[in-house]
Amino acid sequence: MRIKIISGIILLLWMQYSAIAQNKVENIIVVTTDGLRWQELFTGMDTALANNPLYNQHQKDYIYKTYWHADEKERRKKLLPFIWSSFVASGQLYGSRAYQNFVNTANPYWFSYPGYNEMFAGFVDSAINTNSYPDNPNLNVLEFLNSQPGYRGKVAAFGSWEAYDRILRKKTAGYPVIAAFDNIDWKDATYAEKLINQMKQNSYKAEEEFGCMDVFTHFQAMEYLKTRKPKVLYVAYLETDEWAHSKMYRSYLDAAHHVDQWLKQLWDFVQSQPAYRNKTALVITTDHGRGDTNKAEWTSHGSKIVGADQIWFGVMAPGIPAKGEVTTPVQLYQKQIAQTIASLLGKKFTANHPVAPVIVLVNEK
Ligand SMILES: [Zn+2]
Repeated sequence: MRIKIISGIILLLWMQYSAIAQNKVENIIVVTTDGLRWQELFTGMDTALANNPLYNQHQKDYIYKTYWHADEKERRKKLLPFIWSSFVASGQLYGSRAYQNFVNTANPYWFSYPGYNEMFAGFVDSAINTNSYPDNPNLNVLEFLNSQPGYRGKVAAFGSWEAYDRILRKKTAGYPVIAAFDNIDWKDATYAEKLINQMKQNSYKAEEEFGCMDVFTHFQAMEYLKTRKPKVLYVAYLETDEWAHSKMYRSYLDAAHHVDQWLKQLWDFVQSQPAYRNKTALVITTDHGRGDTNKAEWTSHGSKIVGADQIWFGVMAPGIPAKGEVTTPVQLYQKQIAQTIASLLGKKFTANHPVAPVIVLVNEK
């Protein structure tokens, strides 16, 4: 029985690699939006939070007008129209807990640095237990891909939070990592890149150098995609987490909606370019969940907050069957994302630490 199950899994993995190889996924874009809850992703705006003057920024009418619909499926689509139309039409979205489709962090901390390490290194490093952790000692899948034939110099990462410099160990990464208020300083910077540098430096700073507004991260990444044609692009948005910590539900919803619009922009560009069209995978996920059982805890996360280990994951790629919202019971972990990213490009991520197995994306026949 055991042998049968194991050989079944090997067959599925072989099918996954060959399905992807046949369809020639050559590029991948990974997008994270920090601490966006599965609750909003799968069920749309939360009335308890929208109605509460502590959270609605006195803009309850705006929130309802913009994001409310009595039908749950329509409601989530109002918040995230790209994800709930184009993305689910050809991709797969995991983490819908109403169907026992579970995605969780395996790390016990339920905050950002441990989460991003788990996601990209493919394993839980229990020593990484603070967001102020220094340079990450662990090889991550982006750096691994940059060492692979055909990918060297074709990897780039843009993130709104300063910690990405340490999480992705910018100093030794070997590819561009532009985090928070880092300037683009390459010699042949375009006019747009220089302008975004200036706008960013002159923009609102919530906390000194902690994080920039997502709009700068997005347009820097878009410009890089358009002018330098990376094969592996990571874009890391932060505002969903920032507004939630600030108890500002209207802004949290708007930030999520912006991310959805930016996903559409990225995808529309990809599909308009021969270098990318039908050769590019898009992966979307988050680093941690937030509270919900106790409604006041929606603003927070960490190991004391019930449910903050509950996350979600989505993928859309040529050769990957369109399953939309996946409604079969399963338990997936954040640490499986690294190898899944590598597998989409037909690679096997190896490091001097354990790497969790891929998420099986192909159909059983
Ligand atoms: Zn946070």
